[in-house]
Amino acid sequence: MSEPVTSIRRPVRLEYDFTAGRAMSRFLLGLAEGRILGQGCPECARVYLPPRGTCPTCGVPAEEEVEVSPRGTVTTFCVVNIPSQVLVVPVPYVCANILLDGADVPIFHLIQECPIEEVRMGLRVEAVWVPAGELKATFESIRHFRPSDEPDAAYDSYREHL
Ligand SMILES: [Zn+2]
Repeated sequence: MSEPVTSIRRPVRLEYDFTAGRAMSRFLLGLAEGRILGQGCPECARVYLPPRGTCPTCGVPAEEEVEVSPRGTVTTFCVVNIPSQVLVVPVPYVCANILLDGADVPIFHLIQECPIEEVRMGLRVEAVWVPAGELKATFESIRHFRPSDEPDAAYDSYREHL
């Protein structure tokens, strides 16, 4: 007599198309031009990055295009020790929340070109872009961020964005 089947294990694969929408499309097209475009809220003046078209705090359209700096501050970070299936970065590597100057929402990206032990909250970093001829409408137009050799940002300058 055989045992009852109580579970099975199967790899799962989902394929789907992402429709960017107006706000995200503008952001992605900006990356293809080597620009980082957020959107500002007319009521609270927060700049959202990537833009979503509305301010979740005020509940109003936030469609004013705001170009933010390719430089920013590491607010939080993690050291990754598990190889990625989509990144060709050797482990360990660092992923960080980076508050770009002029934005109110950090973006998540790689920190490279420095020992992982040197990555810290407040570290000032700058975007490293792919060569101009390789820019596309994708986050991959920014290869990674690296230290910009500026003094660390004061905690109070980013504490509201953690
Ligand atoms: Zn707002």
